[in-house]
Amino acid sequence: MKKVVKFGGSSLASAEQFVKVGNIIRADKERSYVVPSAPGKRFPEDTKVTDMLYDCYGIAKAGKDFSAELAAIKARYQEIIDGLRMELSLDEEFQVIEKNFKEKAGHNYAASRGEYLNGIIMAAYLGYDFIDAAEVIFFQDNGEFDADLTNEVLAERLSHCQNAVIPGFYGAYADGRVKTFSRGGSDVTGSIVAKAVKADVYENWTDVSGFLVADPRIIDNPEVIEVITYRELRELAYMGAGVLHEDAIFPVRQQGIPINIRNTNAPEDEGTWIVGSTCQKSKYVITGIAGKKGFCAINIEKDKMNSEIGFGRKVLQSFEENGISFEHVPSGIDTMTVFVHQDEFMHKEQKVVAGIHRLANPDSIDIESDLALIAVVGRGMKSMRGTAGRLFSALAHANINVKMIDQGSSELNIIIGVANEDFETAIKAVYDIFVVTQL
Ligand code: ASP
Repeated sequence: MKKVVKFGGSSLASAEQFVKVGNIIRADKERSYVVPSAPGKRFPEDTKVTDMLYDCYGIAKAGKDFSAELAAIKARYQEIIDGLRMELSLDEEFQVIEKNFKEKAGHNYAASRGEYLNGIIMAAYLGYDFIDAAEVIFFQDNGEFDADLTNEVLAERLSHCQNAVIPGFYGAYADGRVKTFSRGGSDVTGSIVAKAVKADVYENWTDVSGFLVADPRIIDNPEVIEVITYRELRELAYMGAGVLHEDAIFPVRQQGIPINIRNTNAPEDEGTWIVGSTCQKSKYVITGIAGKKGFCAINIEKDKMNSEIGFGRKVLQSFEENGISFEHVPSGIDTMTVFVHQDEFMHKEQKVVAGIHRLANPDSIDIESDLALIAVVGRGMKSMRGTAGRLFSALAHANINVKMIDQGSSELNIIIGVANEDFETAIKAVYDIFVVTQL
């Protein structure tokens, strides 16, 4: 068995956290490849090293003195090194960083140093090889991740290493310039490494014991999801459940490698397993509930819309021309409604409406704002009679007016639209019926 283990920023924020991580890795010989993030927050008001680096570089770029900011970053690492009683000096590394900042090496380079330096400490602490991600993870000139080249080079390099630390979050262009993934991108690196070594599992260690069935800010102490499929997770991620970077599932998903979300502060917890498919039934009919406020519905009416070929395309073309992506398009015989993010739509609204008039010539258009969408997701809903009935009677009991319903033909999810102010009550009602009372 081979395991790739990725540790998030809060798992590596201090020497104390490093000790926990060291214990976790040493407890299992199969944990052979380690992907660290940069040190995160030690306490709620603390600043992540990545953010300190962005700030520091901003000052350097403006041609101002950044020595105090750089010293504060160095102190974060020194605190870890001292706390672990290690004999390691990062002096030379910091001299190089200072020089490169002065030469304006770029935001990407600056941010990547958080993971790079943490990787050096981690490798020394564990006695593992250190592999600079810039030598094994590649981006194309257009900024897209180069999956094929990366896999080839990384697989070959790691085939010579029994144990290695590969810092997360960054790679490089062909000319060696450093480029980062988007924020939280160490999750993606972990997945890429897992694919390259054909790992049996990709363990993603963070500060929660897995995905929760619902948002803990709305539901007190929600249950942890034990097993979730990639497809279910996509449906939930898309509605804003963010423990794992969205792009992290793609490399491992292709290879059928499961991801196990674990908690560094409670390593005995099993966490959540993210798998391709499973015969394991979820504990409840639904696997998870997620949602988002802040949508607008644009209602378009036209007599005999159903027989007008190309009507839908013309309407959507107006959104496309204005660079707006749509979330859902429920329709009736003479009506079509397009759900969009209110903040994206707001300042382009009149252009979009004019575009629809010009392109599709509808009878009327009206706009409803301040709507929320809630996704109720679960492989257990498939072929299960009465799920929708239970869902809507629960919402009716909670006095909630459902404005939109959309069930995918996969029977994996039901999306409902409600007013923003009903959002929390609706989620509570759904959680209650499917998880608490299971009526
Ligand atoms: N350190 C980076 C960030 O704060 C990447 C990561 O933690 O995954 O976004």
